[in-house]
Amino acid sequence: MDKKLQTTITVVLAVLLVGGGIFFGISQAKKGAKCPFCGKYFPHGEIMGHKLRCPENDTDLTPRSGSDAPS
Ligand SMILES: [Zn+2]
Repeated sequence: MDKKLQTTITVVLAVLLVGGGIFFGISQAKKGAKCPFCGKYFPHGEIMGHKLRCPENDTDLTPRSGSDAPS
């Protein structure tokens, strides 16, 4: 095989892989993180706050006060 052609193919494949990886990363970042409770997607900056307030989250995360807090 022509050495130059081989190099060109390698470069094109590398660009496609890197480009695809970047595109995948951007689309994932835009999609955000999936809430494990309601299954909806939220921006990464909001997913933590949402999980605590998610209506589907039935884990009681209310901070307990007083002496009846489990230890
Ligand atoms: Zn949710």
